Amino acid sequence: MKMQGKIALVTGGGNGIGRAACLEFARAGATVMVVDINLAAASETAAAINALGGQAQSLQADVSKAADVQAYVEGTVNTFGRIDAFFNNAGIEGVISPLAEYPEDVWDRVISINLKGCFLGLRHVLPVMLAQQKGTIINTASVAGTVGAPNMGAYSASKHAILGLTRTAAGEVGRQGVRVNAICPGPINTRMIRSLEQMSNPSEPSAVMQANTKRNPMGRYGEPEEVARIVVFLASDESNYVNGAAWLIDGGRTAV
Ligand code: NAD
Repeated sequence: MKMQGKIALVTGGGNGIGRAACLEFARAGATVMVVDINLAAASETAAAINALGGQAQSLQADVSKAADVQAYVEGTVNTFGRIDAFFNNAGIEGVISPLAEYPEDVWDRVISINLKGCFLGLRHVLPVMLAQQKGTIINTASVAGTVGAPNMGAYSASKHAILGLTRTAAGEVGRQGVRVNAICPGPINTRMIRSLEQMSNPSEPSAVMQANTKRNPMGRYGEPEEVARIVVFLASDESNYVNGAAWLIDGGRTAV
């Protein structure tokens, strides 16, 4: 129970990696505020935690809107009194398109949700943690934040930038008891990877999965729970000297 008595705040908690992290935080003893643009999905996650005997509530927010971010941070502090761990995770994939044709409106949406959403989360959670003189933040980047991702220019740019934000934040607040790290998952079995497979090869999405898993030293995608366990580790005191790190969770894909 490495998060016993702690308060965890998770964005994108209605689905995929965020939902798995909410459940893992709860299993580790934390009380969880589940935030998502899809309130029904966030409420389902909270209900699943409460059904397991944990404690969770949900809030609706669009992470790209400053007023929503301010509201989910204030809502968490007003409800639970503090924020010990913040999983700054919500993100979207955009479309599959070469840069020479990449639609500007999709570029704006991806940068707004993935990058500005990450910044706004830091902008509003950091003051709370600095006042507490304690806290941990985990930003969701991607392997596409460490290497280029052909046909996913906006996504890759947003995830590279999240590593820049993570390292900068870590450098700013380390002395004040706050640690900031990023996770860089490879392909993980969620709605997002299904969507990317479908966009890459609409007539045969399973061929994309076969190609992806063939290139991976472990021969498979990761599971959201395998990411969630690293998130909770990075949020807990077990990782006390890990700060400004970009933690790869990719089965070795970028190692080869
Ligand atoms: P997902 O689509 O299953 O879940 C994303 C969640 O974020 C959804 O519940 C969605 O409603 C929510 N969301 C989307 N836009 C939002 C917004 N503007 N405000 C609030 N919530 C919003 O995807 P996932 O695979 O769980 O992805 C989670 C994170 O992990 C993303 O940042 C993604 O880029 C990253 N990631 C995913 C993979 C993968 O292969 N699945 C790999 C690397 C990184």
